[in-house]
Parts: sequence; C-alpha cells; structure tokens
Amino acid sequence: MIENLVRPNILNLKPYSSARDEFKGKASVWLDANESPVVLPGVQTGMNRYPEPLQPELKEKISRIKGVPANRIFIGNGSDEAVDLLFRVFCEPGRDKALVFPPTYGMYGVCAAVNDVQVIESLLDEQFSINLKEIGKKTMENPKLTFICNPNNPTGNVQSHETIRRIIEASKGIVVVDEAYVDFCPEQSVLSWIEQYHNLVVLQTLSKAWGLAGARIGLAFASPEIISVLNRVKFPYNIGKPSIELASAALDQEQEIKERVGEIINQRNLLMNSLSAFTFVEKIFPSSANFLLVKFRESEKIYQYLAGKGIIVRDRSKQPGCKGCLRITVGTQTENKTLLKALKELENKQQ
Ligand code: PMP
Repeated sequence: MIENLVRPNILNLKPYSSARDEFKGKASVWLDANESPVVLPGVQTGMNRYPEPLQPELKEKISRIKGVPANRIFIGNGSDEAVDLLFRVFCEPGRDKALVFPPTYGMYGVCAAVNDVQVIESLLDEQFSINLKEIGKKTMENPKLTFICNPNNPTGNVQSHETIRRIIEASKGIVVVDEAYVDFCPEQSVLSWIEQYHNLVVLQTLSKAWGLAGARIGLAFASPEIISVLNRVKFPYNIGKPSIELASAALDQEQEIKERVGEIINQRNLLMNSLSAFTFVEKIFPSSANFLLVKFRESEKIYQYLAGKGIIVRDRSKQPGCKGCLRITVGTQTENKTLLKALKELENKQQ
C-alpha cells in the first residue's frame, strides 16, 4: 500500500484549492483569481490568466504518445521538480534514507540534503554497472527512495532490465528510474512496468531529445495513487502557459524528433571514432545517451585549453570512478568539428 510509504502529514494534507480548481465551467466574466483583466500590448492573449493547474490537454497528448493513461502522468517544472517532490512526499526529514548509485546525477543528493534525508551510496563497478551483490545489504537499510539513472549521467551506460527488476522487487520503498536520456535508446525504457509495479516511478523529460530544456517540462509516470499525491503537494500553477504551449507543439513533431535523435546518435558515433584517435584520450565509455564520458590524460589541462577556446565541456573528474574524465555533450556537426579541430591543434602542438 502506497499510503504506508507517504509521510503522514502529506497524507493528511488539505491541498491548496485554487480559483481554477473551484470553478471549471464556462463563463464570460472571470473575477475569481485576482488576475489582471487585460494583457500588455504585444503580449499573447490569455497570458493575464493563470494556466491550468493539472495541464489536462498536454497530458492527453503525452498519454497518446507514451501509451500511458493521463491519471498516471505528472508534469513538473523539469523532472527536477518531480525529484524534489518525491523527497517531500515520501521521506521524513532527519529519519528516512535514499539510495543512489554514484557516479550519478547530482540532484538526487542535493534534493536529499535540502530535505534532510540521509543518502546511502552503492558505488557502480568498473563498467559502471550496479553492484548486485550489495543490493541485498543496501535494501536492508530500507531506503524510502532508490534512484536508478538509466541511461546514467555522467557515464552514459544503461543498467540491464534484470538488474532494475531485481532492485524494484527487493525494495520496500519507491524505486525511481530516471529516464531523462531514454529517447536516445527507447528500447531501454521500463515505462510499461508502472502497471505491474506500484512502487515504481519513471521520470522522463522534454529537456534532452525534445529540445526544450528552456521550457522546463519534466514527466513522472507512476500509479494513479502516487500521481495524485504529487499533485496535492505541487505548487498550484507549476507549469506556465508558454511552456505548456511549447511542449504541446513539440509533441506534435514526434517524427521530426526521432529523426533528430538519429542524427545525434550518428554524430555521437562519429565523435567517438574521432576522439579515440587522439594520443591524450585514454578511454571513451560506451554511451546510450547524447553525451560521451571521455577519460583524458591530464584532463584538467584539456578542460582549461578547451575553455580558453570557448568550448565548454563538463569536468566530471572528481566523481567516483571518473578520474580524468570529461563529459562531452554531442553537438551539431559543426560544433563537434570545432571541438575536434581544437583538440587536433593541441595534439599537433604537443608533438
Ligand atoms: N535527470 C537526469 C539524469 C539529468 O541529467 C537531468 C538534467 N541534466 C535531469 C534529470 C533534469 O532534467 P530536467 O531538465 O527535466 O529538470
């Protein structure tokens, strides 16, 4: 029962009831929400009005694309909002724990710290796979939340479905599978498992493959019970109208997005081949996402050199198991060529 996992104060919460929650019918004079009756010149009609609190039309579109009923969908201000809400809903500050598999996405730890939740870590092995031998021991500590990032950021690899299933089945708490990058390897998604596992939450986002990082649209998929608690705790109008419209327009271009994903994967493979030829590249880790984790000899120097040329990559060398590693996002063909050209110049200088 999911109720046994939710914090009692959240179960008992009387959520804020917004003007838009209380009257949903048709009307011609709206004097209920203290909005401005007019928009500024040049501003899109309707922007003086609050957006829909639960984004029903956008959810219908997502439902059609993902094959998931709308009552199993939560839309957040980025998937980061969903991560934070999951802590607030399920973890009692100062008491509950969360399990993460470093090196991984940093926000799980940050949200845990903000919510005063202790983090239990189980380090990934040398191939960046979850160490299954440790799972029994770690789940004994009863983490309320377990975060599996799949594909993983910053390593780019995926965990096997068998591993994910074993963790879900071993866990008495909620297991969150963060699929921010899954559009680059859709066959890896465990989204359909939400019907079977009531303790599973799958996170996706429009920030990566869908090209809408600026709009802040994150998605959580889970049982209707979990979605309903997330909705009770979220801010009333968490997604702005411009973002709802941008997301809706993007979702109409699913085919276009698939082609772009294909192009990024193509570019990733080209980049991987070209990078592997450099003398200062020690290793490129296999990636199922839109970035590569690359181990360099003297990564700090490489980072500074590239930054000096206006090319910014992400230094991940301080992450466990990532010594000497930089994370490089796959850009356009031109951007990737600029990066390779800069590295070539450096190599020539060194020889
Ligand atoms: N999960 C992972 C694994 C990420 O890498 C990121 C963004 N870097 C997010 C979630 C957050 O994405 P959003 O833009 O939807 O908040």
